[in-house]
Amino acid sequence: MKHANIALFVPHNGCPHQCSFCNQRTITGQSQQPTPEDVRQAAQLAAAHLGEHARNAEIAFFGGSFTAIDRTYMLTLLQAAYPFIQNGTFGGIRISTRPDAIDEEVLTLLKAHGVTAIELGAQSMSNEVLTANHRGHTAQDVEKASHLIKNCGFSLGLQMMTGLYRSSDDTDRQTAAQLAALHPDTMRIYPTVVLAGTELAALYEQGLYHPPTVAQAVSLCTDLLQFFEDRHIRIIRLGLHDSDTLRQNQIAGAFHPAFRDLCESERMYRRTLTLLSEAGLTGGQVTFSVHPSSLSRFIGHKRQNITRLHQLGFSPLIRPDPLVLEGVALQTSHQGLCPWPPQAFEKLAKNFCVDGYHRFLPRER
Ligand code: SF4
Repeated sequence: MKHANIALFVPHNGCPHQCSFCNQRTITGQSQQPTPEDVRQAAQLAAAHLGEHARNAEIAFFGGSFTAIDRTYMLTLLQAAYPFIQNGTFGGIRISTRPDAIDEEVLTLLKAHGVTAIELGAQSMSNEVLTANHRGHTAQDVEKASHLIKNCGFSLGLQMMTGLYRSSDDTDRQTAAQLAALHPDTMRIYPTVVLAGTELAALYEQGLYHPPTVAQAVSLCTDLLQFFEDRHIRIIRLGLHDSDTLRQNQIAGAFHPAFRDLCESERMYRRTLTLLSEAGLTGGQVTFSVHPSSLSRFIGHKRQNITRLHQLGFSPLIRPDPLVLEGVALQTSHQGLCPWPPQAFEKLAKNFCVDGYHRFLPRER
């Protein structure tokens, strides 16, 4: 069963900052602060629903500034959640907060109340970008807080945004590299979406900020997805969570309700092109073996990948094959006769396992 969170949103209505992308001031008053009783009820409901799987789930306080809210209020929420950790109903408590709202004292408190995972809203590791977007903290704060969190034995999650004001693809790639060097257990990547009532909206309307389009964000985030997975860092979120509030307030930028799927499909398309290129194929009918669970990724949103293959001169046939463990494999359509020249075959064999049916299975990493 997939990992589950019992998510409670804790808005930081009194936040002294005004990040360029945040519309908390606009929505203040619409978001209610959860009470300890809300926490207990949510936990009891989830426990009844999840049954024995609850042990793998976490009670999660999201909102981005958990350790910066009123300390007494923070403790009452934790005290409501902690008994569910002590009696083994749930696996732990997850919180998200700002990098400059972490120190030894608060980490000790969190530890004593069953918190197991801390996510930091890093957003960028460029101080210029952080300043331009009024984050109120530096890249050094992210590094310092990350080290403290890891040293205290918490699971570390880091969040970054791509396409912020004054950022670029190169800056975002550098941010990814610097965050990966902190060895987070999990990552969340959010391409910037411009919300009404924010400074980004004003900059966008004045023509001073050009937010990334969905296509631009997919191109970059597909690279970042691969980058973090190559380093065994799990991406637990890619793209903003869809909601009515988001749809009503977004005026530009890279919002798509299935953003991660778009990136996964793009990655599959790139792998397909690599396979075709390695095999020296330039067009014609090709049969692709695809694991049944990867079919929709292979085909792409609105059949985009199939259309692109047609545009390149290929007539793709798809064969669902549970033996293809990861991604896609080529299969000859010549009844066992491999049509590729020996050099192409040798080259392929370096990167792919070849089985008796002339299928080329990506080697497991
Ligand atoms: S994103 Fe920035 S402005 Fe919004 S609540 Fe967090 S710190 Fe405050």
